[in-house]
Amino acid sequence: MNYETGPIRPPSEAESLFVRVNRNCPWNKCLFCPVYKKRKFSRRTLDEIKEDILSLKEAADKVQSYAVKMGYSEVNRQVLENVYRNEPDLLQIAFWMHRGGRNVFLQDADSMIMDPGQLSEALSFLKEQFPRVERITTYARSKTISKRSVSELEMLKDAGLTRVHVGMETGHDPLLEYMKKGVTSEEQVQAGLLVKEAGLSLSEYILLGLGGQEWWKEHALDTARMLSRIDPHFIRLRTLAVRKGIPLQEKIDAGEFKMQDDDGLARELKLFLENLECNSYMISDHILNLLEEVEGQLPDDKPYLLGVVDRYLDMPDEKRANYQLGRRLGYYRYMADMEDQGRFQQMEELRKQLLEKGQNQADFLREYIKQYV
Ligand code: SF4
Repeated sequence: MNYETGPIRPPSEAESLFVRVNRNCPWNKCLFCPVYKKRKFSRRTLDEIKEDILSLKEAADKVQSYAVKMGYSEVNRQVLENVYRNEPDLLQIAFWMHRGGRNVFLQDADSMIMDPGQLSEALSFLKEQFPRVERITTYARSKTISKRSVSELEMLKDAGLTRVHVGMETGHDPLLEYMKKGVTSEEQVQAGLLVKEAGLSLSEYILLGLGGQEWWKEHALDTARMLSRIDPHFIRLRTLAVRKGIPLQEKIDAGEFKMQDDDGLARELKLFLENLECNSYMISDHILNLLEEVEGQLPDDKPYLLGVVDRYLDMPDEKRANYQLGRRLGYYRYMADMEDQGRFQQMEELRKQLLEKGQNQADFLREYIKQYV
């Protein structure tokens, strides 16, 4: 296919069509970030973006013609099978159409860095070519958003943008500086409020564990304080994991930064939730998160969310260790999965083996989850 795609998208956009408006991250300095380190930022021209949209449209038209020839008005399973047999290159867009063809995600890390007028033209062109599209979302840096005016953001909304995903990570200023995030907590708040004022939906990501063992309390408290001021539509939880090649690993190797263990992460999450006062929908939708069932509408579900964390913290040591293994190795999705005796015993066996080998479970799991980074 003759169009570009970037390396990542949020889990909630896994089924979206991707349109790349620029390449990689214009900042690319955050110590903890694994994504773009060896990739250079570059801008894409409006013409390049339009050409990609036209290629996508051509691909969609081809898929639709398969459906029509088979006597269908929509892309169903039979059409997918036919496309797979004859033109497997079209399968990605065929699946997108099969799922309704309504969601688009603009890549890469900071679409707002593009001139607002040009981005707005790209959005309008996208909507012209794909009139059924209802949701267009993107990643953007707070620093970049904070330099835009409400009217510029409103122009993007009028052109079709619906939601902005922002990696806040933390609201604690010394930590933002240490991690070289390139933005202050105040700028993050202003950016979040601007997005909301323009009528766009706002999804903020926070990174549990980012304060390590030293700043976890400040990280939890300031992040809760800043998010309470922004009151975004969504708060998405992520968990810090580091591997070789990521700058933060050097600080870990030097003993300067100490990673949280799973119990520490749960205590941090509890402190964060206790101090959060907002109306956001909270989601824990990432494989690296310890507690996926932390999901609900604030403020009503706050007792439930805290109850989930307490349920984990109140388990006896051995049971918590069993859960950590099962969750991190992919045997458990939720704490309730421990009720499956087969899986529970498998994790007990593994725990015993680690103990016999004298291997520290937290270190074992830290190594294991690097594959997800
Ligand atoms: S701004 Fe985002 S994408 Fe860029 S380096 Fe930082 S975390 Fe990574």
